[in-house]
Amino acid sequence: MLKPTHDADAASILFNLPGYRVLAAGHVDPDSEDAGRWALVEAVAAEGGCPDCGVLSGRIHARPVQVVKDVPCGGEALEVRVCKRRFRCQEAACARATFVEETDELPFRARFTTRLAEKTLASLRAEPRSIHAVTVESGLSWPTVMGLLTSTVDLATIPEQRLVRRLGVDEHRFRRVRYVRDHDGGVTRVEPWSIMLTGLDTGAILDVVDGRRGPAVKQWLAARPRWWRRRIEYVAMDMSSEFRAAIRKSLPRAKISVDHWHVVRLANDMVTTVRRRRIWETEQRRGRKVDTAWRYRQLLLANSSRLSTRQRARLNEVLDSDLQLKLAWGVKEHVRQLLATRHIDDFHREWAHLERAVKASNLPEAERLLKTLKAWRRELLTFCRTRITNARTEAANLNAKTFKRAGRGYRNHDNYRSRITAYAPTRTAA
Ligand SMILES: [Zn+2]
Repeated sequence: MLKPTHDADAASILFNLPGYRVLAAGHVDPDSEDAGRWALVEAVAAEGGCPDCGVLSGRIHARPVQVVKDVPCGGEALEVRVCKRRFRCQEAACARATFVEETDELPFRARFTTRLAEKTLASLRAEPRSIHAVTVESGLSWPTVMGLLTSTVDLATIPEQRLVRRLGVDEHRFRRVRYVRDHDGGVTRVEPWSIMLTGLDTGAILDVVDGRRGPAVKQWLAARPRWWRRRIEYVAMDMSSEFRAAIRKSLPRAKISVDHWHVVRLANDMVTTVRRRRIWETEQRRGRKVDTAWRYRQLLLANSSRLSTRQRARLNEVLDSDLQLKLAWGVKEHVRQLLATRHIDDFHREWAHLERAVKASNLPEAERLLKTLKAWRRELLTFCRTRITNARTEAANLNAKTFKRAGRGYRNHDNYRSRITAYAPTRTAA
């Protein structure tokens, strides 16, 4: 379809800045084409509204030219010069004499176009890149880009903007412990741990807080409004009693689910402890290649249902060589079966099997494991019923680390929080 082109010349169409037309364009240095180009643009609207009285005026008082930053155009440096009109207010009752035109693309005092700001924010949201990398691309300064980010991310309220039914709590270490000297000469230990709070339905990072597990989680939850806290039905976490105590106190209605990977790891650690102890007891030395149990130690920890026939045969050979190891392995497999259940009845049945296996094994390592699992039985049952895991949180942790690395470590924690919470990973079904 053809449109009338009376105020849309070819250059303006190519430049494509809404509300503006290109008046002229040229090379910065006519002798050298490498020095870049310039384009002089002007707003299409013939009138501007006075910010005080709102009356439109078309009486131009001055036409100063200002250079602004814009998105790259035509694949080479382009200097955008804006002919910014200053109008004279024609309302007799208005105290204001003149005013500068404002448009959507160039609001009051803007040094860069709105489309450049949007593009910059979009690339910050889409990829875990450093602020520095984005400044190079956009031509904006670091404080300008960080300012754009912090002005769009309101750290105090962002968690409330997301309705969270399932909350993930996890901690990650992002630097070494530091000791900071106080004014009075004492030394304060700065914890290197950050606690990451994630909305498990979307995988979005809600916040990152510094501090020790229990108090930091309690404080963070206490800062959220009551209605927001009451919506949380489930909380996924690793087996940390500090986290659990904090959640039970702050969110008494929420059910806690423990991540099954942590449980599997505990069971595997138990098998490894038994294997090491047995080699010491039989050989009076550490494990070596000649010991079948050491050579095939990975088979002992693997999910036995995924082993090939050959691996299976090797595993049996290892297990037959040591009864205690066989018993420990059996307990670990019972733990895996317990975690595979999805119904309460199956869970209770597998739990009974596990208890019997531990008792029959007579291994102190297995008894210690069972003691831990008993302390987390309710949370394990919640996991089996709901299959809610912290996998999303761990992915978020990875992103947080990427940001830290990409940003060479943020010294200002609020800048870091802005950077992380503004990043919105692609939504996928939970
Ligand atoms: Zn006015």
